Amino acid sequence: MINDDHPAWASCEVAAWSRYLGFALGPGKGNCSWDKAIQKFEKRSLQWDASQLGLHFSARAYNTFVVSVFSFLWQLEDVPQEAFDAEKRAIMTFSPGPGTWRLPTDMFYLKTHFGFPVAFQSMRHVALASKLRVCFLELHDVADKQMQLEHLIKSSSFFDRRVLMSTWYSTSIVTTLFRAIRFADNLGIKASAEWRRLVADFNHPMSLRDMQKARSKLQSRLTYLLITCPSINENMEARVRQKVSRWGLSPPLGILSRRLLARLPEIAKLVSPRVHSAIFKTLWNGWATSARFQCTAQCVLKCSTDMDALGLPLAQDKIEHYVYCPFTKHLFSDKFGFQPNSVSKDVFFLAADHLLEHTDKVTLVAIAIYAIMRATNHFRKFPPTSANEVHDFLEEAVKQATSGHRSSQRILHAAMVGRFASRRS
Ligand SMILES: [Zn+2]
Repeated sequence: MINDDHPAWASCEVAAWSRYLGFALGPGKGNCSWDKAIQKFEKRSLQWDASQLGLHFSARAYNTFVVSVFSFLWQLEDVPQEAFDAEKRAIMTFSPGPGTWRLPTDMFYLKTHFGFPVAFQSMRHVALASKLRVCFLELHDVADKQMQLEHLIKSSSFFDRRVLMSTWYSTSIVTTLFRAIRFADNLGIKASAEWRRLVADFNHPMSLRDMQKARSKLQSRLTYLLITCPSINENMEARVRQKVSRWGLSPPLGILSRRLLARLPEIAKLVSPRVHSAIFKTLWNGWATSARFQCTAQCVLKCSTDMDALGLPLAQDKIEHYVYCPFTKHLFSDKFGFQPNSVSKDVFFLAADHLLEHTDKVTLVAIAIYAIMRATNHFRKFPPTSANEVHDFLEEAVKQATSGHRSSQRILHAAMVGRFASRRS
């Protein structure tokens, strides 16, 4: 038609979509808004070497430098499946370890359910919270605009377009935002109610600065409500049960999973984030032992070279061995002053009854777990030449566990002084 009626325009390209202020617009836009952002996200996620960061700093780096590339788009558009797939891959990269020691979803609940200072941002939750914030603070008439849009579509005489362009209509910015509000309403989450609670904490009349503070907090409060809403989230009690059932601990599984779910945030208050991460990795079977890769190898600390009748090492590279490894026992009894053999499997996995009543003991067990995990990671790459080398490494790792964390440092110091005192006596 252009060729016939307007030949001067014949060489012009007719596009079904175009980009405007970062968003793809037009009937053929599909997920084009996200293409470049997904590429950038993947590039950034590969730039980080998370193997040396630990879960705590990995989550901070991921939130600040990686997932933030989507934060502009998810305010007004639904997150496409390609972005969720990229998110899954990135979180696996940022939480390295054997096989499926964690699910990406575990990483989203680190803060709300396991007591970590920070969790990996979940795009599903943050994107929804972001839309609710935009609707409440910027676009107050989304519902009216949606009604107008529906009216225009219904009253159009171009019936075929309802079918041909249905995807475009259903993914329009107004419809996307309206859908987000309705979804949150059904969960009983309203930005207006959260805003009222938020501003109640400030002096009134609110200064401009306070108003800005409240505005910046609204999204994180809404994200918290969404990620703790049971009907749209994982059942964490079932998840803990699934993870710890393999350890064969004494408490019945139901009690054990509820206990650990309540205990992990409490333990987080006693130790540094790096030690808390080690506990989490232990419970979740996240050590990179040979057993984790379906292989059989000797204890990497070289506590024993004895073999059983089948020719398999008696002391194997697996967490179950490290609970009772002579180096672990030495750390507990000779360094921390525990009674010999007082650390059972239930204590090592922090699942024993009434354990939290003894916060000093919990702190020392947590420090030991961190030190043993560090030592096995190190000596798996660089086998020790003597037992003293392992003891020296453990001593250094114990100090690093409490470095910069005063309360656990005090408890460790008291335990070491007690040890020396008992030796003198
Ligand atoms: Zn051993």
